[in-house]
Amino acid sequence: MLDCAIIGGGPAGLTAGLYASRGGLQNVSLFEMGVPGGQITKSSEIENYPGFFDSTKTGLVFMDTWQKQCFAFGLKHEMKKVNSVQKTGEYFTVMYDGGDTVESKTVIVATGAVPRRAGFKGEDTFYGRGVSTCATCDGFFYKDKPVTVLGGGDTALEEAFFLSNICSDVYVVHRRDEFRAAPSTLDRAIRKENIHFITDSVIEEAVGDTMGLTGVDIRNVKTDEITHMDNTGLFVFVGQDVKNDVLKNEKGEFICEVNELGQAVVNLKMHTSVEGLFVAGDLRIDAPKQVVSAAGDGAIAALQAISYIQEQQ
Ligand code: FAD
Ligand code: NAP
Repeated sequence: MLDCAIIGGGPAGLTAGLYASRGGLQNVSLFEMGVPGGQITKSSEIENYPGFFDSTKTGLVFMDTWQKQCFAFGLKHEMKKVNSVQKTGEYFTVMYDGGDTVESKTVIVATGAVPRRAGFKGEDTFYGRGVSTCATCDGFFYKDKPVTVLGGGDTALEEAFFLSNICSDVYVVHRRDEFRAAPSTLDRAIRKENIHFITDSVIEEAVGDTMGLTGVDIRNVKTDEITHMDNTGLFVFVGQDVKNDVLKNEKGEFICEVNELGQAVVNLKMHTSVEGLFVAGDLRIDAPKQVVSAAGDGAIAALQAISYIQEQQ
């Protein structure tokens, strides 16, 4: 019987593991299907994590120290993909690949999210080398340079606005001439003189060389005309998918409350609607989608798991 099962080894899960094991829980396992580290290991640089100020280091290097620190206090790493979690009576049953199960008194789910890919040619090739899904993270690399933003939702227009304060010009490419974003968000973007809209258009291809992205080919979906732009930054905001499969039972129903986007509804203590089940990081509602906030969530969830176990005794 585990005291705490943590699912997902990104910043939220690793921090939860550190706090749970260092906080005195005896049997704490972190189930991570790959190498721990999470989404940030895909980033070539990280500049906005307080205390870490070395832009020559990659996200992979950045997370390496986390692993060493988080596993130093007794946290066990199980390299397994968890399929589901069920609460039967007082305890949880965690089911993972291969059909094995383990029981746990508490569960912290921190399986994160994945930015949706748009599907244009070159997107995967230049992902992390010019193609980005995080303006807060990568916008500064294009200071005083023109960038392209793909998407017409709230995220695309909010991030375009953020980028317009850093970059010389922001070209928003959207496949329709109407926007999904809230009218006030759209109005604010329209009023910004260095945001330019290229509607009824898609990215046909991201082009570049061994150094990274050198430009984009934009196709007008009505005329098929292709225009090339030499922008070396392309931000793709076409939605995000949270990794919430673990929160579904065998019938595909969610075991705790989620919103219409499938994000777990939690309170400020990371409690879900199921006692003893906590969710932390990008998987939760209103997540700022930053390493620093995911780590904070993980710490809160672990402290709450410790309190929960103490209250049960
Ligand atoms: P994740 O990092 O998504 O980690 C979830 C983990 O759970 C993954 O390792 C995954 O393998 C694992 N997992 C999922 N399902 C299962 C399962 N069923 N069983 C077992 N394991 C599972 N933020 C910043 O603050 N600064 C930046 O500079 C920055 N740059 C970024 C650059 C890129 C390219 C990307 C994609 C994101 C960036 N972010 C940045 C955002 C940041 O990485 C995320 O907000 C953060 O990683 C979220 O942490 P998390 O622990 O909630 O989830
Ligand atoms: P979204 O609302 O789903 O918008 C995605 C955008 O990308 C849409 O404009 C869509 O075009 C476009 N798109 C999708 N697939 C594409 C593809 N393959 N190629 C080109 N374009 C593509 O996603 P989001 O902006 O990330 O927002 C997600 C949710 O969070 C929404 O409910 C949003 O309101 C909410 N949100 C709210 C706030 C806020 O309240 N401040 C901020 C951010 C997000 P179409 O419009 O043509 O489908």
